[in-house]
Amino acid sequence: MFLDDDKLREECGVFGVFGHGDASALTALGLHALQHRGQEAAGIVSFDGEHYHSERRLGLVGDHFSSEKMINKLIGTSAVGHVRYSTSGATVNRNIQPLFADLSGGGFAVAHNGNLTNAITLRAELVDGGAIFQSTSDTEVILHLLARSPMPRVVDRLVDALKQIHGAYGLVALTNKKLIGARDPLGIRPLVLGQIGKAYVLCSETCALDTIGASFIREVEPGEVVVISQEGLTSMKPFPPMPARPCIFEFIYFARPDSIVGGKSVYEVRKNMGSELAKESPVDVDVVVPVPDSGTPAAIGYASQSDRPFELGIIRNHYVGRSFIEPTQKIRELQVKLKHNINQPVVKGKRVLLIDDSIVRGTTSVKIVKMMRDAGAREVHMRIASPPITHPCYYGIDTPDRSKLLAATQSLEEMNSFIGADSLDFLSIDGLYRAMGEKSRNPILPQYTDHCFTGDYPTRLVDQETHTPQRQLSLLAETA
Ligand code: SF4
Repeated sequence: MFLDDDKLREECGVFGVFGHGDASALTALGLHALQHRGQEAAGIVSFDGEHYHSERRLGLVGDHFSSEKMINKLIGTSAVGHVRYSTSGATVNRNIQPLFADLSGGGFAVAHNGNLTNAITLRAELVDGGAIFQSTSDTEVILHLLARSPMPRVVDRLVDALKQIHGAYGLVALTNKKLIGARDPLGIRPLVLGQIGKAYVLCSETCALDTIGASFIREVEPGEVVVISQEGLTSMKPFPPMPARPCIFEFIYFARPDSIVGGKSVYEVRKNMGSELAKESPVDVDVVVPVPDSGTPAAIGYASQSDRPFELGIIRNHYVGRSFIEPTQKIRELQVKLKHNINQPVVKGKRVLLIDDSIVRGTTSVKIVKMMRDAGAREVHMRIASPPITHPCYYGIDTPDRSKLLAATQSLEEMNSFIGADSLDFLSIDGLYRAMGEKSRNPILPQYTDHCFTGDYPTRLVDQETHTPQRQLSLLAETA
């Protein structure tokens, strides 16, 4: 296990471009920039005016979509793409997105980031009505609903489908004549709009726009559906309006620090989290060390606010792939050092403060603290730049069930003794909101989706309310 194996996992990143001669090459580059949002599989579907071309592979974008041969197969001036980390549906080829269907009015390819909280219930109903599913991905539910819609226009059929689902989504879809982008009514998952030359781009984060040299126009608004065609861009708001609640974890961990989310620099917000943490939970140490890479901006903020030296006390090897054979326990233990090694001269004999962005199971924190002590650190303290994670996510993020979340089952003292640090503390929920530029969390109408810390789920969890976890699994198996 590597240090970043004990993190919440983003489900996916999406990208779409319409009206550009290099559509598939731009999509491949955009997916490269979004690789942090999913490393299990990648896919691109392009359209050349007559035919769709689809390539979907398990593995990293660079493993498959860097060659000229591959890009030349994906002909056309419009394309959609997807990087995947599975939270619903197993990691098999048939679940790799974009999914494609031949509908009565033409082809339809869809790439989806998020999770539907009533997908299993809808899926069981559709199967009862005769639908045959090809994947276990809940994105296919959207395709089936769309195929059954009586509306004449494809956009209205998509809206019809989206009105039946609950949960979180930022999706891009490609039809014979249009690129469509849609964001869930609360804006839980992100989606942004950009432009390169005359071509429009839709993608999960602004870092993908920067990578392809596109300019950022604006975010797709919560509950907005944008439709891009040769006639230009139109927008509609087909859902009842509600106060936006974007996922706060985009700022803590998911988004790349060079992205702008909700008008805020993710990097600056992360530094603010570190400085709020230093105000709330000071500790007398010789050196502030980030757990790389996600703890780095917060550690810079903490060190600056507390006027303590910031040092890279853990060095990350960026050239280690994700999979590595794990033949024995001894080799497994060495793997941690393969990717992260302690920079001994900066920690030996020192009082070290480790800063990480979050703790999920706590298993890697145990390892880092031990590595620090083995390297000769005199004291090892730990501060976490977000509140304790006490509730699982049902909106497209892979969280272990509640019993495996360290903070859901243990007190602060118990957690500290589990990870073996001299002291442990977390940023408070109001401290997190202050880092976001708010005075505090509004308890009546919270400004963000933050339920992994609060248990305040902003939508109905239909599948959870209706079926036990075992029943959910068996329904999925029965209908797969
Ligand atoms: S539980 Fe909520 S706040 Fe946490 S990652 Fe999921 S959507 Fe975001």
